[in-house]
Amino acid sequence: MKKILITGGAGYIGSHVVKQLAECADNRITVLDNFSTGFQSTVNTLQSKYSSIDMTELDLSHWDKVSDFMKKNRFDAVVHFAASLIVPESVRKPLTYYLNNTANTANLIKCCVESETNKFIFSSTAAVYGEPDLTGKAGVTEDMPLNPINPYGRSKCFSEHVIKDTAFAYEDFRFVILRYFNVAGASEDGLIGQSTLNATHLIKVAAETVIGKRKKMSIFGTDYPTKDGTCIRDYIHVDDLASAHLAALDYLQENKQGIFNCGYGHGYSVMEVIDTMKRVSGVDFLVEEAPRREGDPAVLISDSFKMKSMMNWVPKFDDLKYICKTALEWERGLK
Ligand code: UDP
Repeated sequence: MKKILITGGAGYIGSHVVKQLAECADNRITVLDNFSTGFQSTVNTLQSKYSSIDMTELDLSHWDKVSDFMKKNRFDAVVHFAASLIVPESVRKPLTYYLNNTANTANLIKCCVESETNKFIFSSTAAVYGEPDLTGKAGVTEDMPLNPINPYGRSKCFSEHVIKDTAFAYEDFRFVILRYFNVAGASEDGLIGQSTLNATHLIKVAAETVIGKRKKMSIFGTDYPTKDGTCIRDYIHVDDLASAHLAALDYLQENKQGIFNCGYGHGYSVMEVIDTMKRVSGVDFLVEEAPRREGDPAVLISDSFKMKSMMNWVPKFDDLKYICKTALEWERGLK
C-alpha cells in the first residue's frame, strides 16, 4: 500500500487527483487542506464513495504542526497542490503569493526531507515561462528560459528552484515538477468539478454566464498580436491533468525525476473558447470587449512531447467542446 499526501486535495485539480488515486486499490490517501479555497464537501463526497481517503484540516503556514504531522505519518509521496493561483490577485497581493506558495513549499520540502518522504510532485505552471518566444516553434519546451512576468509565476518559479536544489543536495529526494497549462472541465460522472468562488478563469466564467449567474462577460484585450487579437492558451481537461499525476508517481517509483509540461500542444484564442461555449450551450450570451488584464502573456502553448514520450501519458479528452460541455454540466449542477 502507498501512503500519499495530497496538499490542497479539497481544491479543483487536487480533488480530481484524489479521485483517480482512490480508484486504484492499493493507495491510502490523506488530504491536507485549510479549506481557504477548497471545499470540505468535495472531500466528503469523495469519502462517501471511496474508503481510502483521510482528511486533515491544517494550514501549511503552521510550520511546526506540519512538521509534527509529517513525522507522525511518514508518507511515501507528497503531491503538493495547496497554493494561491490567481494571476491578477498576485499582482495586487504579491506577499501573499510568496508566503503561501514559495515559503510554505520550502517548509513542506524541509519536512519531507526530515521525515524521509522522498517522492515529491509539484504543481507548477506555464506562467513560469512568462512571454516565451515561440518563433519557429509550435509550443514551449521545458528547457526554454524561465521569465515569469507576474508574482504568481515568480512564486512558483522560486519554488521550482527550492525543489531542484534540494534534490541536488539530498540524493534520495526525487521530484516531478508538472507545469500546468490552462485546466478546465469536470469529471464526466458529475461527482466533482470546479466549485471555486469568484471564478476568474475563462471557461468557468463563460459557463457561469451561460447559466445566468453573470449577466455578461468580458474579453480582456483584443489588440494582442494573435490571429483575432485575443490571447491564446492551451486548455487541458482536468481528468487528463489528473492522470498525468498518476503517471508522475509511477515515474518516481522508477527512481526517475524531471520537469514536464502538461498541455495538449495546441491553443485556442479567447474568442474561439467563447464561440465554442456558445455552440455547446446553444446560448448566445452577452460578451463585451474590455482592456487587457495585467500580467497576461499573449500566447502560451505547451510542447507536450516530453511528457507523452517519457511517461507514457496518453491524454483522452483533447477536445475543447468536451471541456466546455463538462464545465457547463458541472455549473448547471451547482445552480
Ligand atoms: N479571460 C477573459 N475573460 C475572462 C477571463 C479570462 O478574456 O472573464 C482571458 C484572460 O485574459 C486570458 C485567458 O482568458 O487571456 C485565460 O485566462 P484564465 O484566467 O482562464 O487563465 P490564465 O491563463 O490567466 O491562467
